Amino acid sequence: MKHSHRRRSAALAVVALLALAGPARTTAASDPIERIDPPSWWVGFESPELQLLVHGAGAASLAASLDYPGVRLATVTGAESPNYLFLNLVIGADAAPGRIPLVFRRDGHVVARRDYLLEARRPGSRERKGFDASDVIYLVMPDRFANGNPANDQPPGTLDHVDRRDGFARHGGDLAGITAHLDYLERLGITQLWLTPVLENAQPEFSYHGYSITDHYRVDPRFGSREDYQALSRAARARGIGLIEDVVVNHIGSGHWWMKDLPARDWLSGDGSRALTNHMHSTVADPYASAVDRRRYIDGWFSPQMPDLHPMNPLLGSYLIQNAIWWIEYADLSGLRMDTYSYSDKRFMADFTRRIMSEYPRLNIVGEEWRDDPAMVSYWQAGKANADGYVSYLPSLMDFPLQGALVRALKSEDSWNSGFPALYERLADDFLYANPRNLVVFADNHDTDRIAAELGNDEALWRLAMVYVATIRGIPQILYGTELLMANERPGNDGDKRHDFPGGWPGDAADAFSGRGLEPRVAAAQNFLRTLLSWRKTAPAVQAGSLRHYAPADGVYVYFRQLGAETVMVALNKRAAAATLDLGRFRESLARGASGRDVLSGARVTLGDTLTLAPRSALVIDIR
Ligand code: CA
Repeated sequence: MKHSHRRRSAALAVVALLALAGPARTTAASDPIERIDPPSWWVGFESPELQLLVHGAGAASLAASLDYPGVRLATVTGAESPNYLFLNLVIGADAAPGRIPLVFRRDGHVVARRDYLLEARRPGSRERKGFDASDVIYLVMPDRFANGNPANDQPPGTLDHVDRRDGFARHGGDLAGITAHLDYLERLGITQLWLTPVLENAQPEFSYHGYSITDHYRVDPRFGSREDYQALSRAARARGIGLIEDVVVNHIGSGHWWMKDLPARDWLSGDGSRALTNHMHSTVADPYASAVDRRRYIDGWFSPQMPDLHPMNPLLGSYLIQNAIWWIEYADLSGLRMDTYSYSDKRFMADFTRRIMSEYPRLNIVGEEWRDDPAMVSYWQAGKANADGYVSYLPSLMDFPLQGALVRALKSEDSWNSGFPALYERLADDFLYANPRNLVVFADNHDTDRIAAELGNDEALWRLAMVYVATIRGIPQILYGTELLMANERPGNDGDKRHDFPGGWPGDAADAFSGRGLEPRVAAAQNFLRTLLSWRKTAPAVQAGSLRHYAPADGVYVYFRQLGAETVMVALNKRAAAATLDLGRFRESLARGASGRDVLSGARVTLGDTLTLAPRSALVIDIR
């Protein structure tokens, strides 16, 4: 299948002849090809390889050829199903953007042609900067944020029902709704947007959350189109907001089009038993784990509606890696969030992250390892020297251990091993991480109980949580609605955690985008977070500075961030009484007689011998 490189002019002549012969897409009724994935590609990647999945009746028996300068068809392989053909192209550094004429023959007769689009990459695409600790990430579940287009709530052919009173049904939120409210996010101080998955979920129920993907190249029509996703990214970038894609490689939805015609049985894990995972995360690193338990963790289905993928099949592995690259390039993304990270074979996850980071060396990828255990979470971060020799390329992880410790610290009385002292010691576990500054810090997410509910709807404790997330090391992440003290009433109930954002639907009683009709306590919380995050944008010490903390005493936890001439002092007083601090204890961090600005009130503060904190309050002083 090798091709000699033709001169460009010769190739153009071929294109011209094809044009004379009629439309490039063959009009014969017998055209067997239903789809080619990825739908397009780009020149100029580090890896010259491109695998095309060709699907259609009897595709495996087609003979494929192409004729394009700088591009050759290296190998062609089939799978078990007669309806798949995999073309492995090599795109040379000299290949120019254009359309590659693919020709498919059966028994010597041409039965299909496709002009495959090869594009130029955006300038600077490879060097794109991923999200980092100078950012604040806002997590949105698109179905629950804003309904920008009521006409797409239930397009023909979609299976799930629409009912805003049902927490597990579709509510109608979409990409247009998010795009229409970017000004709100910008004013809130947000610089990154993480959307739960927006790809098609053609599932009969629970399709609203997006984690049951049924087509890796199609945006769910209830959210909009691929072009809408691209337009959202462009509009967000114009406001200094990056877009993070939520990637799921562990599983698919049971309605995925592959499930009707699997390329090969080993695209799914295990023995076809549909046994569920045992959720034993530790088995991947446990020196004593049995193979049967480890296999059950990796190979078990996440749910009966979520078949488990087996990406150690190299055709599937390439498909998933290319899919992530395709969306980064197509939608101009600033990073990836990877769902259920440790549930996939860890060798594949190393391949995946190594390849993505080799194509985008400054990108960021944050993995979800939902364990309240820094030893387990740190195992996955790039740069960690693991006892078992496992080498990871994943730059960032969600800091579940710190989230758990924060919630417990605010809910419990201080003692030698609870409350603030436990939070202080949990942060000390940072010695386990290769790069703790690149962890994503949060008080709640779409899977946890809402932080306001966890804290008994206590606004004072909520403010302490927000100050901690915004000022401790790492990359803060705020869940949509957290700025409104949104709470779930039923612990652990997913539908109840994922309320609609007020004002996102016509006729909503309150509108949090404009502030109309908000309860005073909610408006005050929103304003508090806006003040805090807007200031954070201007404070390099909090984004990139060193951190020194002092052992909590009498319900007060004090720490400092410092960079260059800027020092930020954070003091959290959890008790119902005022506290007076002897500032002499903080001389390592604080010059005698320093003065700064109270970030939350705007007042000037001079730091003499003592500092008095109001009951149940957070004080953030920016000294520079
Ligand atoms: Ca809609």
